[in-house]
Amino acid sequence: MAGEAQADCLFCKIVAGEVPAPDARARATTVAFRDINPQAPTHVLVVPRAHYPNAGALAAADPRLTAEVLRATAEVAAQERIDGSGYRVVLNTGSGAGQTVFHVHAHVLGGRGFEWPPG
Ligand code: IMP
Repeated sequence: MAGEAQADCLFCKIVAGEVPAPDARARATTVAFRDINPQAPTHVLVVPRAHYPNAGALAAADPRLTAEVLRATAEVAAQERIDGSGYRVVLNTGSGAGQTVFHVHAHVLGGRGFEWPPG
């Protein structure tokens, strides 16, 4: 069934509390936690509790949940105080774009300057 937890999914395990994620911020439909390999002074991941493999699958299945993920990124940016200076939200979608964990997640990056175009 769409959105159902997957036994072999790392981020489903974090959502379930089976894999520890220090400083996790749990909300009704999303969880935010720090990236284990930060690429910026602030690097937080926001995931929906429900399992969708990527941003396209989430958007097609549940536009409301898609908006809740985006809203959670803004909440993280405000909590981390990176909203004033600017921050980047990244949804790597597909292995060719660098996606390595196939449970949709938004990277919230801030605390430094960013290049455009991205690498
Ligand atoms: P992707 O490359 O866009 O799929 O991003 C996956 C992210 O998950 C990477 O930035 C990893 O550093 C991060 N990551 C992998 N395992 C863990 C973990 O156990 N806790 C927190 N972040 C993780």
